[in-house]
Amino acid sequence: MKHERKSKRKGKTCDVKGCNKKKKASVPGGKVTKNTDLKVDPSSAAGNAYLCKKHYKEYKKATKEERKMRRLSWD
Ligand SMILES: [Zn+2]
Repeated sequence: MKHERKSKRKGKTCDVKGCNKKKKASVPGGKVTKNTDLKVDPSSAAGNAYLCKKHYKEYKKATKEERKMRRLSWD
């Protein structure tokens, strides 16, 4: 497994640092850095970030919790 190609071609793999999984969804990069501890490329953080299934789940969970918290404070 020494075929780690560091191509920055978007739409292929997850943008999270150290993750080479296939991308599942694209989300606003700013929200990823704001809501999660995931590290994405600065270029992705400024635009859209591609996430694999696992990281997308993490992102969804983080944004969901944020929404829940916001709803609580608004009630
Ligand atoms: Zn990933």
